[in-house]
Amino acid sequence: MRPPLVMKFGGSSVADAPRLANVAGLVRADHEEGRGTLVVLSALGGATDALIKAGKSAARGEEAEALGLFEALLQRHLQTSRDLLGPRLPALVEEALEAARKDILPILRGAALLKELPARSADLIAGRGELLSSALLAAYLDQASPGAAWVDARQVVKTDSRFGQARPDAQAIKAAAAARLLPLLGEGQIVVTQGYIGSDPYQTPTTLGRGGSDYSASLLGAAVEAQEIQIWTDVEGVLTGDPRVVPEARPVEVLGYDEAAELAAFGAKVLHPATILPAVELGIPVTVRNSLLPQGRFTTISKEGTRGRAVTALASRGPITVLSIRSPGMLGGSGFLARIFEVFGRLGVSVDLVSTSEVTVSVTVDEGAPLEALRKELSTFSEVRVEEDRAVVALVGDALRRTPGIAGRALASLGNINVEMISLGASEINLSLVVGRAVAPEAQRLLHEAFFSKEARP
Ligand code: ADP
Ligand code: ASP
Ligand code: MG
Repeated sequence: MRPPLVMKFGGSSVADAPRLANVAGLVRADHEEGRGTLVVLSALGGATDALIKAGKSAARGEEAEALGLFEALLQRHLQTSRDLLGPRLPALVEEALEAARKDILPILRGAALLKELPARSADLIAGRGELLSSALLAAYLDQASPGAAWVDARQVVKTDSRFGQARPDAQAIKAAAAARLLPLLGEGQIVVTQGYIGSDPYQTPTTLGRGGSDYSASLLGAAVEAQEIQIWTDVEGVLTGDPRVVPEARPVEVLGYDEAAELAAFGAKVLHPATILPAVELGIPVTVRNSLLPQGRFTTISKEGTRGRAVTALASRGPITVLSIRSPGMLGGSGFLARIFEVFGRLGVSVDLVSTSEVTVSVTVDEGAPLEALRKELSTFSEVRVEEDRAVVALVGDALRRTPGIAGRALASLGNINVEMISLGASEINLSLVVGRAVAPEAQRLLHEAFFSKEARP
């Protein structure tokens, strides 16, 4: 069997009927006889946000609002379907719409009544967009030859029961893919499935977290040992900075796996942070392409992608919180770090950056960390200062650590912006600077100017 191709399309690529038709065109253009194509689809742009909003309204007891949002979303799919497929709905689409009503309406009503939405029900609602969009695309592709098969990703992407942020079980996914995907892909078929969703060992639907369709694509790509995992989005690959902040950011042609993983972890929204891991293990190249400019530039992420660059690209993530933990009594003592990290571990808080001095340890944690509980526990043996509303701006490059003067140039370029914490990541390819959230965009612009403008030294 020829290794299949995985093509993932994000919400921006499937916002309406013309874009869905465009996606179908891209799938057909890349589909080769005798080689299976696995299409991993996100929800129509904005659909997941609308579903989550409906769930939250219901949990506040606002039934009419919740049902209204859901009904509008169904109407949007109905209209998109008619625009794409004509007035008669194919059975696949009809059934998907019917199932959405049957599954979701009682949950929204029940949640509104109880003013509570359990995490498992929230996942069931949030993941519905992918089931609908994929039915539309599969039905459209199936109108011509070769057709397309629709597969329910919940039967393949097996996860644990951490609703909202479920962790995949790679072995179970491999087994399910062998049973449900490989026979179709082996015949050279086009198979359409969903990103973002899966199910736990009790068959209860789960989601992989926001933006998780990229992760689905790489999990499935690894499971079917794909030739390539293509992430189709609305920009020409991974850019040197966030284009919403730095309009002159330009595509990076090749990236190493480590660089891409680091950029994603530090906020480059174009890739879900976990996307790279499954691909690395099998050495499958991941490409990031623009569905609106398919002949344009794109990024290839692979083992061979490192180029000895000091700074390959920038990324930024926020808001984050800095906790500075000081214990003068610990001067020269031992076990301080162990005590601190024991608290973080026990409260299940993941620590991001760490910087230490003799008596103070600063760490950063994500928004949503239980700050009061942390402060209370840490205060039993130290003084704690909590600074919220910060952001991290990261410079990533595989030769960063080997290139002298990068930190100096970075700090010099920031002028009056106060850098509150610096961490030259243990990964050796990341220099992270913590600044106030409000000035993070400006910091990224200044760094981009310093490292990527025409005048900048390479
Ligand atoms: P999709 O719907 O295709 O998953 P996303 O919105 O999740 O698309 O990701 C693409 C967006 O990521 C881009 O439109 C861009 O605004 C943002 N982005 C942030 N940082 C970067 C970067 N370094 N390179 C490319 N895009 C980036
Ligand atoms: N539709 C989901 C979201 O909006 C997953 C994704 O697009 O990757 O988060
Ligand atoms: Mg995305």
